[in-house]
Amino acid sequence: MCGIFGIYGHPEAANLTYLGLYSLQHRGQEAAGITTFNGSRMHVQRRQGLVSEGFSMPHLADLQGDRAIGHVRYSTAGGSDPRNAQPLTVNYRHGQLAVAHNGNLLHADRWRHGLEAMGAIFQSFSDTEIILHLMSRSGADTLEERIQDSLGRVHGAYSLLFLNEDKLVAVRDPRGYRPLVMGRLGNAVAFSSENSSFSLVGATFEREVEPGEMVVVDRHGVHSSFPFEPCKERAQCVFEHVYFARPDSALFGQSVYASRVRAGELLAEEHPTDADVVIPIPDSGIAAAIGYARRSGIPFGLGLIRSHYVGRTFIEPSQSIRSFGVKLKLSPVREVLEGKRVVVIDDSLVRGTTSRKIMQLLRAAGATEIHLRICSPPVTHSCFYGIDTPTREELIGAAKTPAEIAAFVTADTLGYLGHDNLLASVNDPVGSSRYCSACFSGRYPEDPTACPRLELPSVPQPVR
Ligand code: SF4
Repeated sequence: MCGIFGIYGHPEAANLTYLGLYSLQHRGQEAAGITTFNGSRMHVQRRQGLVSEGFSMPHLADLQGDRAIGHVRYSTAGGSDPRNAQPLTVNYRHGQLAVAHNGNLLHADRWRHGLEAMGAIFQSFSDTEIILHLMSRSGADTLEERIQDSLGRVHGAYSLLFLNEDKLVAVRDPRGYRPLVMGRLGNAVAFSSENSSFSLVGATFEREVEPGEMVVVDRHGVHSSFPFEPCKERAQCVFEHVYFARPDSALFGQSVYASRVRAGELLAEEHPTDADVVIPIPDSGIAAAIGYARRSGIPFGLGLIRSHYVGRTFIEPSQSIRSFGVKLKLSPVREVLEGKRVVVIDDSLVRGTTSRKIMQLLRAAGATEIHLRICSPPVTHSCFYGIDTPTREELIGAAKTPAEIAAFVTADTLGYLGHDNLLASVNDPVGSSRYCSACFSGRYPEDPTACPRLELPSVPQPVR
């Protein structure tokens, strides 16, 4: 999970990209970066940590130019090494080039080993660099053709922004795993992982970049094409609606807030219970708890308050101080919980360890019964398309039954939203195949274990 933002044709490109990344901070807190182009050279700033921590006014003042791309990183492929911060920026035989990537390529290790065997030297551990190496080896004449040549060889998830001397190019993979939207700010054209960032910078949402589409912005205007073989079946990530995206965004044509409320309503129908109050685990459970309360008739309450000021670098001082990390983030409201039978709404249940700590907090604050309701099916499989889910062995939903999981997390009862209702919550009729839900179903849109023949480009010949 990462966030990308870009803008072309605005004198404050760096400042707007900073603001765009700020509003995408929920998609990655490990590192942030901005690359601008001022007509003669690229300027790059990449920082570890939050956007607000990493960038100051002097940093932004150095980022000159009327076009920029930016990236917030959540460690998936490549691990948490500072060298993996994006945008990746290179000088190659066609000039300067920067790229920002949201998603994960399949078979990245094999690509890397294949390219290294041909002499390629990698600067990072990121799969994104594979795309740059393939572009560098392409014999195509134009940037668009080199992008097409490179991406035509790889599989997996990519929403990408490229910036060179002349152009900003936005590309989304043919299945559309990760979101990418386009907007306007006066004469400037902007791209973002989520349209909620357009509200902050004052841009108007225009449309989504379609799966398989390439949008090029240059001094001649905006040009769209579909250079990749279209996939009949889309694979838009349903987990974006469940957890990742902000509720004030619309993703894949659906309001995230509305889909979460609907999930809560369907959950109330699927797993009703007698209780005194419905509380969310904030923030991602709030909209669904509103839906559950509305459909069940049980009053909504804020039984947990989230602290938004816990730094990402916090280190739990000792395993003996149990629940310390959770207590820093979530604080129970005794007034809401004491002596009450509580329905707790969470977006998903991955390992179960955090849920167990939260149940302990609620009981300590006086809850007499806890009925845990999860707005998605059990997470049973790992994601290979850009979301940092644990291995199958660590997924509690892959190993235990709901009754066993309820016992582990110490809830009185546990209910998951069914797979069909999950798709109904995003208004996707069963069988329409617009969404990927592989981490819940094991039905991967592209087999991550397949071993396709990699079409490595030939080694370029020396120039005489
Ligand atoms: S496997 Fe899950 S998290 Fe990954 S793209 Fe599919 S739905 Fe999203």
